[in-house]
Amino acid sequence: MKVGIAYHEKYRQYDMGPGHPFRGDRFVNAMRLFQEQGLFRLPNVTMLKPKPVTKQELLKVHEKNYVDLILRLAKESKPYDMETPVSPKILEAARLIIGGAIKAGKAVCEGRIERAVALGCGYHHAGRNYGGGFCLFNDIAVLVEQLREKRGLERVLIIDYDVHFGNGTSDIYYSDSSVLYISLHQDPRTIYPGTGFARQIGEGEGEGYNINVPLPPGTDDQIYLHALKEILVPLAEEFNPDLIVANGGSDPHFADMLGSLRLTVNGFFNLSRTIANVAENVCQNKLVLMLGSGYNPTVLPQCWFALTAGAVGYETINVEDQYTPPDESDLVGMTVEATLAGLKRILRKHWKCFRR
Ligand SMILES: [Zn+2]
Repeated sequence: MKVGIAYHEKYRQYDMGPGHPFRGDRFVNAMRLFQEQGLFRLPNVTMLKPKPVTKQELLKVHEKNYVDLILRLAKESKPYDMETPVSPKILEAARLIIGGAIKAGKAVCEGRIERAVALGCGYHHAGRNYGGGFCLFNDIAVLVEQLREKRGLERVLIIDYDVHFGNGTSDIYYSDSSVLYISLHQDPRTIYPGTGFARQIGEGEGEGYNINVPLPPGTDDQIYLHALKEILVPLAEEFNPDLIVANGGSDPHFADMLGSLRLTVNGFFNLSRTIANVAENVCQNKLVLMLGSGYNPTVLPQCWFALTAGAVGYETINVEDQYTPPDESDLVGMTVEATLAGLKRILRKHWKCFRR
């Protein structure tokens, strides 16, 4: 099985400045570990070098006024909001990162590779006419729209495993039944952006195609993977997508500064393997894994490697956590079971798999 990895040295310019959790050295540190692990020496792994996304491609998702605003802010090096600075260098990196996603998706859809890992991607807080949460443009949607237009994809499944709810992606596809958006994230009452509740299931044509699985702080590997399998596996089989796009980085890790979930490095490996297996079963392995988040620089490279290794097809990995994860509480498991039961009840009307 061939796997492509999209990356460009200039990604490191997506650096939001000293003291900001989103730093450019994340890319360099992750690539160093990938190299040490011999990832690039594997015969089935190829590198994909991106070209910057064009304004025309951005306009397939974003409103013109918004794109023009970001271009102007970049020129003037003015922030979009308090936590989302913009500069010529950040814009250049953003355009290359989105270009990397497109390159990865096209290579998969043309059959040159089966799976792709698009590093640095997953700006899921950006909507059609807004940004925020370190995100300027929604690379996930830009990728999906390119592939729908140029490769005639009919159905795309997006699985968002970032610790935060992908409000931007969700908004963009909220009334679209050809894109099934599934997000597992920390309970929105306890984290940015404050939305992503189980009852938000889409509207109009898209009702039933937006699926939120809020998880309480303290959710560990076992409970997380259980929730993922309960929701993703049956829905993917019934939806029968042409492609799976997965996005998220290391921010669900137990030592991440911004989130309170409790995944370990090994949990990320199993998470990625689970998604890759689903892709194998439902869409001939066609998978684009977009990974970009993570705010603890010590654990980020190991988590990104574990995620990548799962998509590449490793059976085991020899990287592990340097810290001991905290103990779990029984309450977390019970809360998640109740959430899953409630969610299946809400979705029963739309999905046969939840009627059994
Ligand atoms: Zn996040």
